Amino acid sequence: MSSGLSIDLQGSGMTSARTRERLISRLMAQGIRDTRVLDVMRQTPRHLFVDEALAHRAYEDTALPIGHSQTLSQPYSVARMTELLLADGPRRKVLEVGTGSGYQTAVLAQLVAMVHSVERIKPLQDKARERLGSLGLNNVRFRHADGLGGWPGEGGYDGIIGTAAALGVPSTLTDLLAVGGCLILPVGAGQQQSLVRVRRTAEGLQQEVIEPAHFVPMLGGVIH
Ligand code: SAH
Repeated sequence: MSSGLSIDLQGSGMTSARTRERLISRLMAQGIRDTRVLDVMRQTPRHLFVDEALAHRAYEDTALPIGHSQTLSQPYSVARMTELLLADGPRRKVLEVGTGSGYQTAVLAQLVAMVHSVERIKPLQDKARERLGSLGLNNVRFRHADGLGGWPGEGGYDGIIGTAAALGVPSTLTDLLAVGGCLILPVGAGQQQSLVRVRRTAEGLQQEVIEPAHFVPMLGGVIH
C-alpha cells in the first residue's frame, strides 16, 4: 500500500462510519433516546455542511463556524430539539427559523413530510439549498427573510424550530402553531439562554423550560 493511499484512508477516517458512530454513542450517553433521530443523524453527512478545512471536526459534538459570524449547531442541540419536536406524535409541516448550514434542515427533512426554512443571510441560504439538493432532499422550501415574520400565507404548523436565541417567545411564531403543535426555541440573551418548549393545546399555550442552551442570537433584518 502506498503512503499516499494510507494518508487518504486516514483522512476519510475522520468522516468514516466509525467516527460517526462515536458521535451517536455520545448523544445517547447525553440522554438522546429517539432512535429515529439517532438513525437519521448517523446517516446524515455533517462534514458536507462545513468548509472542507473543518470536515475533520464534523463529528465532534461541537458547534462549528459557517461564516458570517454564524455556527452550525452542536449535534447534541440538533438531536435534542428534533427529539422534542417529534415527542408528541408525527409532524407533517414544520417551520425552521435559521437555516444556517442546512444541517438541522436536512435532519428534519428526513423525519417530517414538509419543511419550510427561513434564513436572513442570503449566501448561507444559497449554500444550504445546494447541499440539500445534492442530498436529494426535495421536501424543503427556502425563504430569504426575517423568520420572526413567519411565512406569508402559511400557518397551521405542527412544529416550529428556532435555531437562534430570541429574547422572548415571539407571538408571531406561536400564532402559526396548529393545535397539538409545538415550538422549540432557545430563549434569552448572551450566556443566559434556555431551551423552551411551547405547546398549543385546545385550551391555549403551555410553556416549559427544558434545559440551558447556547445559541447565536436571533437578529432582525436581512443580508443579501
Ligand atoms: N441550524 C443551523 C443553525 C445556524 S446558526 C445550523 O446548524 O447550521 C442560526 C442561524 O439563524 C444563522 O444562520 C442566522 O443567520 C439565522 N438567523 C438569526 N436570526 C434570524 C431571523 N430573524 N430570521 C431568519 N434567520 C435568522
